[in-house]
Amino acid sequence: MLEYALRPTILQEFKADLRGEVICPNDHGYDAARKVWNGMIDKYPALIVRCTDVVDAVHAVQFARDQHLLVAVRSGGHSVSGSSVCNEGMLIDLSPMKGIWVEREKKTVWAQAGLTLGEFVQATQAYGLATTTGTVGGTGLAGLTLGGGLGWFMGKYGLTIDNLLSVDLVTADGRVLRANATEHPDLFWGVRGGGGNFGIVTAFELQLHPVGPVLAGKVVYSMEHAREVLRFYREYTRTAPDELTAYASLLTTPAGLPAIAISVCYCGLLEKGERAVSPVRKFGVPLVDLIRPRSYLKLITQADAGAPAGRRYYEKASTLSDLSDEAIEALVEYGTACTSPYSQVLIQHVHGAASRVGPSETAFALRSKSYVICMVAAWDGGEVDRHIAWTRACWKALEPFATSGVYVNFLGHEGEGRVRAAYGVNYERLVALKNRYDPSNFFALNQNIKPTLKEGELCLRQV
Ligand SMILES: Cc1cc2nc3c(=O)[nH]c(=O)nc-3n(C[C@H](O)[C@H](O)[C@H](O)COP(=O)(O)OP(=O)(O)OC[C@H]3O[C@@H](n4cnc5c(N)ncnc54)[C@H](O)[C@@H]3O)c2cc1C
Repeated sequence: MLEYALRPTILQEFKADLRGEVICPNDHGYDAARKVWNGMIDKYPALIVRCTDVVDAVHAVQFARDQHLLVAVRSGGHSVSGSSVCNEGMLIDLSPMKGIWVEREKKTVWAQAGLTLGEFVQATQAYGLATTTGTVGGTGLAGLTLGGGLGWFMGKYGLTIDNLLSVDLVTADGRVLRANATEHPDLFWGVRGGGGNFGIVTAFELQLHPVGPVLAGKVVYSMEHAREVLRFYREYTRTAPDELTAYASLLTTPAGLPAIAISVCYCGLLEKGERAVSPVRKFGVPLVDLIRPRSYLKLITQADAGAPAGRRYYEKASTLSDLSDEAIEALVEYGTACTSPYSQVLIQHVHGAASRVGPSETAFALRSKSYVICMVAAWDGGEVDRHIAWTRACWKALEPFATSGVYVNFLGHEGEGRVRAAYGVNYERLVALKNRYDPSNFFALNQNIKPTLKEGELCLRQV
């Protein structure tokens, strides 16, 4: 285990300035505090700063700068690639910051960065309100929002970033800025998809919408019908109304049967929803039909059971503009050959409001109607190589049918070329923004947009 090489007095002074806790390798609770959701990630930061407010985040940034520490920023800890924790440096942990203030009349909310989606939705649904979030309750609101935010309401309300009104952010030089349509609009553009590249977001203001019970759940079919089911899914999604978002997944049932599921969520009037989902219910001979009205909170928190913390995960992702018969063949081949009962190939249909925003209106460039495919290997115990090999082979098989773009929140450590591909037409503008707000690449542990300023230019540059 690493020992932090700072003089104890310096560390003591830093601790005295903080309202939150500092946890070092020899402290009680260090092991629990350094762990993230993916059990594959095993890193040992030299110190963990558990921030309770924006002032703590500012102190942490200033201290890390003064001491030349590598910095990782963590909120929900659900980065599959483990980019929210580091070896040796400082982990700035926002997870204690769970404040949330709903403005019922305005249908807006200010939410702090440490909230999970489940906590966020619980608070907004208390007022009958919600906005687009991811599909699993334990995921962090912060990382999900900063990357874009795909979810069940994206057809009706757009991505999470399409509902973002403002952020409070701590910059690399320790200032606190508010960014929105009128204050620092360039930064506001960049944080809507640009991840943690420009600073630590301590709070998000989001637009909410009235959301009652949704009609949601999955219909499961035997894997032997996978081709027909995927062809049906292709036609079904082509004409889906904005209120209906549908995913498909090739998976193994709890009873151990290879299967294919279509999962839906309809977020309008339930009677209309019944009509919209009836083709799925009537198609073929399902093994089970689990579609029913339920609360949105229940929908996303029930999904937690399928993604437990501590299991090992590895994922890759592709974007397909259509599901050709050839792509379906590849999906079925690898969906059938997955190496663990917990692994799956997930197909997410991006459509409606999410696809009516221009690719350069926000940093998130992947605005065409598309199918975002995630091949997620998940397993307990050893045999790492076998599971990773399956994921990579599946991704490779889909490459001939994929567009060049990839969703940053599903990217692993795949190199600069893939980060460029994720941002497409927006990449150069993001580099210019990085030069402006983080020219020394202080925030480097993320899907990194590398600044291009040289040493001499750094000191001349003022934001
Ligand atoms: C089980 C599961 C389900 C998922 N489902 C969806 C889904 O439905 N839709 C979807 O779009 N994505 C989904 N994702 C992907 C998810 O959006 C990303 O993993 C996201 O980064 C998680 O956010 P987090 O706060 O938990 O991440 P963390 O691991 O805490 O952070 C992820 C990245 O964001 C940076 N970061 C975190 N907090 C801040 C902050 N406050 N300020 C600046 N930078 C910060 C970190 O430095 C790191 O680079 C899912 C992931 C998992 C594991």
